[in-house]
Amino acid sequence: MASQRQIHVGPVAIGGGAPVAVQTMTKTETANLQATMDQIRTVAEAGADIVRVAVPREQDAEALKTIVAESPIPIIADIHFNHTLALKAIEAGAHCVRLNPGNIGGPEKVAEVITLAKQRGTPLRVGVNSGSLPKHLRQLEYDNPVEALVTAAIETVQLMERLDFDNFKVSMKSTSVPNTIASNRMLSQRIPYPLHLGVTEAGTKWSGSLKSAVGLGTLLADGIGDTIRISLSTFHAEEEVKVAWEILKALKLRQRGPDLIACPTCGRLQFDMDSVVAEVERRHEAYEDPIEVSVLGCAVNGIGEARHADFGITGAKDMGMIYSKGEPLKKVPTAQLVDELFKEIDRYYAAGKEVQRDEAAAADARRWLADNEDATAMTPERIAALEAAAAQEDASASAVLDSMLDGDGPVDGVNPVAPAGVALDEAVSPVAGRRFSRN
Ligand code: SF4
Repeated sequence: MASQRQIHVGPVAIGGGAPVAVQTMTKTETANLQATMDQIRTVAEAGADIVRVAVPREQDAEALKTIVAESPIPIIADIHFNHTLALKAIEAGAHCVRLNPGNIGGPEKVAEVITLAKQRGTPLRVGVNSGSLPKHLRQLEYDNPVEALVTAAIETVQLMERLDFDNFKVSMKSTSVPNTIASNRMLSQRIPYPLHLGVTEAGTKWSGSLKSAVGLGTLLADGIGDTIRISLSTFHAEEEVKVAWEILKALKLRQRGPDLIACPTCGRLQFDMDSVVAEVERRHEAYEDPIEVSVLGCAVNGIGEARHADFGITGAKDMGMIYSKGEPLKKVPTAQLVDELFKEIDRYYAAGKEVQRDEAAAADARRWLADNEDATAMTPERIAALEAAAAQEDASASAVLDSMLDGDGPVDGVNPVAPAGVALDEAVSPVAGRRFSRN
């Protein structure tokens, strides 16, 4: 369940029903101000709400003052092993400090950090990693790794509560997707504090994105998780942010920028859809509005499948068509499809989000569509028409059946065994001999 408590990392609310916050972490040497600030601006532009920087040395803690002052988004200082660096990070104005109390040098040192965090109103992210659980949980870790992880997290929470500190969020990091899901489900039932989700060391852009989508997506779909970080082995931290957004957008938890829908292509494809999709994706990133754009590889199924899309294109060998909300707008040579699509989108925005339709061009496009779509394909429109016809038949059959059960005999002289308009062919019926009991 969603966390009950809320904290604030700078102006960003975490937990207590706030939108799920997107985090990432810089990959630069923190003290290299130019490189670090460049990456922070890049991830902020990509949509990061919060960014974390590693603080392993004195000079990194020193650099924090400038980074905090210049960053467009809140900064979390990531500290391990050295409580002095945590104190310096708080002094430097970090909006939040991440530390694992288990590796910071004992309860006294944790208490020292908490005392300063309380004075400065600095929130903490506290947590545990599956790879470094306390010694007394080693046997439990062997017998039940999920229970061990949750127990360690709860012990950390209890330490915070004993120190009378509640301005924190909690994370449990595991490289295992099933354990990430199971442990966060369990912990969310046991504590009211916000949860930070991530699959640690998830992997490359490809495998890491998939693991994170499965692990984090499963939890987020259950309403668990208040902030997420996608860990990918790439220097480009903005890639982590883009993946995080795709997960949130897929679950309709947050909206940002356009949505691209594209068919998977098949043997009916007659144009270079790979490059068209890549070009559409590249160009539609410039739009901040959550506009939906669809690309279909052919017109075989009509355009009904993309009827919800704000705009879309479908192509054949030489010609293609632009449509909006399932209605044709115009037909254009395939080579100009992408340019013309974006012209239509720009006209739509220029007209205050009104689709601009030229009836003659639309009629021409409709004719092209009729010539190119497959008359035998099951379009949504055709499926709907078949369902309506079937429903009508069902209604007349049940009226006859009702009259028989009421003992009223045939309705208006209709044979009860063969309802009006339905030719009953027992030989081909899948329920032959079982449809009615006959005398
Ligand atoms: S839209 Fe056309 S090309 Fe794309 S998957 Fe469907 S049938 Fe194949």
